[in-house]
Amino acid sequence: MICRLCGNVIPEERMEALPETELCVGCSAKVGGEVVMIANEVRTSKEGSMKINYGGGVDVRFVRKWPRSR
Ligand SMILES: [Zn+2]
Repeated sequence: MICRLCGNVIPEERMEALPETELCVGCSAKVGGEVVMIANEVRTSKEGSMKINYGGGVDVRFVRKWPRSR
């Protein structure tokens, strides 16, 4: 994965932590972070959903600030 802004290689650990990212750490900080992490409390767990559940009680999603365009 290559950073969209500077063209540097994004470290694999960052890709694992933030699979949605298209920027390296430096550029992400520069633009104030390109994704927002949203954590919602989930009362009922639905089987077969694509959501990532941590501890079964929190639904964590990453929302891209930038549209994937161009
Ligand atoms: Zn970069």
